[in-house]
Amino acid sequence: MADEPSASHGPPTAGTEARLRAALQELEASERRFRSLVQNVSDLIIVVDRAGRMQYASPSLQRLLGWEPSEQDRGLNGERIHPDDLRRLRSAFVHAKPPGPNMPVTTARTLHKDGNWRWLEYSITDLREDPSVRGYVVVARDVTERKDAEEQLVHQALHDALTGLPNRALFLDRLGLALSRLERRPGLAAVFFLDLDYFKVVNDSLGHSAGDEVLVAVAARLQGSLRDGDTAARLGGDEFAVLCDDLVDEGEALQIAERLGAAVASQPVPLAGRELVVTVSIGVAFATRPDQRPEALLRDADAAMYRAKERGRARYELFDSAMRARAVARLETEATLRSALEDGRLSLSYQPEVALRDGRLIGAEALLRWRPGTPAAGGRDLTPPSEFIAVAEETGLIVPIGEWVLREACAHLAHWREVSGDRAPDRVSINLSGRQLARSDLVDVVERALDASGLPPNALCMEVTESVLMDDIDLAVGALKALKALGVEIAIDDFGTGYSSLAHLRRFPVDMLKIDHSFVAGLGRNPEDAAIVRAVVALAQTLDLTVVAEGVERPEQLEELRALGCERAQGNLFSSPLPEHEFAQLLVSG
Ligand code: C2E
Ligand code: MG
Ligand code: MG
Repeated sequence: MADEPSASHGPPTAGTEARLRAALQELEASERRFRSLVQNVSDLIIVVDRAGRMQYASPSLQRLLGWEPSEQDRGLNGERIHPDDLRRLRSAFVHAKPPGPNMPVTTARTLHKDGNWRWLEYSITDLREDPSVRGYVVVARDVTERKDAEEQLVHQALHDALTGLPNRALFLDRLGLALSRLERRPGLAAVFFLDLDYFKVVNDSLGHSAGDEVLVAVAARLQGSLRDGDTAARLGGDEFAVLCDDLVDEGEALQIAERLGAAVASQPVPLAGRELVVTVSIGVAFATRPDQRPEALLRDADAAMYRAKERGRARYELFDSAMRARAVARLETEATLRSALEDGRLSLSYQPEVALRDGRLIGAEALLRWRPGTPAAGGRDLTPPSEFIAVAEETGLIVPIGEWVLREACAHLAHWREVSGDRAPDRVSINLSGRQLARSDLVDVVERALDASGLPPNALCMEVTESVLMDDIDLAVGALKALKALGVEIAIDDFGTGYSSLAHLRRFPVDMLKIDHSFVAGLGRNPEDAAIVRAVVALAQTLDLTVVAEGVERPEQLEELRALGCERAQGNLFSSPLPEHEFAQLLVSG
């Protein structure tokens, strides 16, 4: 055994030759298999040598990029990669690794023979050390459809579906970019906030699809009146925004505002057989410093737009710092007021309403009080309602606050009745804001407060100011009728200040008129005020309504009111509004 030659040392025997041939055949077969695999896979397989020259490209080159494999030298090189993607692809070569799990992939736009860009996904393997390759193996596949779908998703996320304009997110993004450009180069950019005038009327009277048509037309007009590089966006509803960069001065921004307004309004919008002139109110805010925040700028422009609405619509206004101060104060008040509601720092004071005939206390008006500081500070630092109710109305906070007032006032009257019996007022009055009146759940809310307290409906009087009633007469008539049907009493507050005509007055199901204190103030001094009060008393008698004079401070006012036939009064002469516990004491002591 020891001297028998081994297969590796001695001359080949017939057996080893056969084995070698078999091995070669297998190699060839495997090579063929491999070649056929490479030739037939749909992915493009490329071998690139160390110098970056293409050594081999599989036939998929034609399917993917239109080139014959014989044209491989022209099939793929730096010039055929999109300039924006070239760096990324080069770096993928630099960082390529030998084969292993989780090979990284890179996408790059690659030029098709037909001149279009295709998105290819490249996976690059470093086989420079492999003697059979001595280069990189690149596997590429076409992912254009996936990329297009991705891009479409991104587009949808950043654009308004109706008008195709950028949406708020994209607008804020562009504004952020414009602001950061100011860091590198001082300049001026302007934000325009646009809100269509009376769009709600269009929607309500002509329908939503007409509203949509108007929005699309406005979007096109805005877009059409801008330079390249400016952005028009739809923020939502009937609100649009425009961003203009690189302005020479503020004057240029004003010209743009004029142009935007004119672009919208100069031609009527054709709508199924009719034509509609649409106008827009515009607020302008300027970006001059890179530390300005996009959201804040948009809010500034919004505040200026609000001013344009106030001043008659179809115009533009510039934002100024006084507006900002007001807007900030409004936000602060809203935040502290909200927490006051949650933390129980709101309270009600009650002002007696007395019968002039016998001085009997017949009612009590609940008046909201807010102690912004600590409850321990006592009754001195109360903020008057005039300072915060307007904010609560604007922000809608008046709705939960109003509900609280209603429940609290009903609970108080029920309590007084329990403790003081006959001495308790017949009813409690609360003030209703326009926002509350417009809510469809108003009657439910009132009913629940009555149920919770056990009071009958006629123990509650709801006061609505004349100006709120005049704001939307049909809405007010509907809401008051529903309340009336419930059985609560209804008073028109601040009567005489809201220009209601007799015709309107007859439509409202009211029980009582409260003469505004401004007319009462002049009684005993100013004959014109006396004439107004006399007229209101006469009107009330005609319509069978009770009259209450508000803000009675001096005895001579009282005398004149009696002489004029007024039946009831309220005012500091009798009592100023009292915190609940003081009012309860008044009832007990008489
Ligand atoms: P209002 O309903 O007309 O209330 C009468 C206002 O006249 C009260 O002002 C009251 O304190 C004040 N007043 C009473 N007697 C006299 C007087 O002899 N002389 C003068 N100069 N004023 C007198 P207040 O409490 O500041 O409330 C102002 C307004 O705020 C109320 O006017 C009402 O419109 C609104 N308000 C008050 N509480 C609420 C509430 O809970 N909800 C709503 N929505 N509004 C409320
Ligand atoms: Mg009132
Ligand atoms: Mg009043």
